Amino acid sequence: MSAKKIFFTTGPSALFYTVEEHLRTALRKQIPSISHRSKAFSQIYQHTEEQLKQLAGLPQDYRLFFTSSATEVWERMLQSAVVSDTLHLVNGAFSKRFFQVAQKLQYQAISVEVPPGNVVSMEGLPTEVMPELIGVTHNETSTGAQQPVKDLEILRTKYPESLITVDAVSSFPVIDLPFYQIDALYFSVQKCFGLPAGLGGWLVNDRFIEKSKQLAPTGNTSYHGVDSFLEKHGKYQTPSTPNVLAIYLLSRVLEDMLEKGLERIRMESKYKSAILYHLLESKQTIAPFVKDTKWRSETVIVSETMDQTNNIIEKLNQKGLVVGSGYGGFKDQHIRIANFPTHSKEQVEMLVDLLDAMVD
Ligand SMILES: *Cc1c(COP(=O)(O)O)cnc(C)c1O
Repeated sequence: MSAKKIFFTTGPSALFYTVEEHLRTALRKQIPSISHRSKAFSQIYQHTEEQLKQLAGLPQDYRLFFTSSATEVWERMLQSAVVSDTLHLVNGAFSKRFFQVAQKLQYQAISVEVPPGNVVSMEGLPTEVMPELIGVTHNETSTGAQQPVKDLEILRTKYPESLITVDAVSSFPVIDLPFYQIDALYFSVQKCFGLPAGLGGWLVNDRFIEKSKQLAPTGNTSYHGVDSFLEKHGKYQTPSTPNVLAIYLLSRVLEDMLEKGLERIRMESKYKSAILYHLLESKQTIAPFVKDTKWRSETVIVSETMDQTNNIIEKLNQKGLVVGSGYGGFKDQHIRIANFPTHSKEQVEMLVDLLDAMVD
């Protein structure tokens, strides 16, 4: 067996450093075999929701639903709470896919689109519409662009009647968001939580639930929707058999994060991203892809490479460090580096030193 690698890929990524131990505990306790209708499962579900609220300081009316992935949430949100009009802020592959899902499902979807590496400015948004739902991607993992947090507050004042939904898949819970201005927020566990892929978390507030209840008689949700999730949530159960093991692991990682403290996690995250960007800016042949410093993601650092992508990836790989290639059309032009809570300061310092030594 070769030595263990450190994954700086943007998801799946390195496992949170306690996951191996929790996995062994889970097997010993036979967690994968417990019924999702059992008291034991309900306790795990409730504990997970409570800890998530405590950790991130979420509003008390947020309910946590489990999906198969974040991608599933796009369809569920539309089917649960929209009759016709949606507005999408598009600045990369993930924000675009939500828009396309809405088009495919034949909603009246409009988008405001800016080139990769940018974020949609609040001034550029249409004023003559009041969409039922707005989709904004807080952290565009395909480009490393991050919507400034204050924009989410501006969105709420611009569109007081709309449901504001935030894709925080690759930034939650590291970045502190104005949760009280957000009606639905979703994430995947293989990003900042450092867990195996295969579980999405979908948080909705009372406003979102009220809107979906108005729709319920005509709503076109299929096997998962706010209605079926909510009904089972009353007993901390799920409409279908969920990934019980993943939910258990999430609850354990949340315990660890609470013990470490989110403040400390956030401080370390700022430090790690600062040294990465500092390195990229100090080099001749590589540079941050996102030019405007206000828009640079703290959790997904994307660099232009002047055709050195494969070379850099290969050389780092030989040292046991795995970074991601560019997304889609940028495959050979970028590298993408995850800065998630499991990545220690020492690991990021090592990556910075190696990169410094291998590129001009
Ligand atoms: C990874 C990612 C998704 C999709 O998550 P899945 O778990 O693959 O469904 C959506 N949005 C963003 C911003 C992401 O980074």
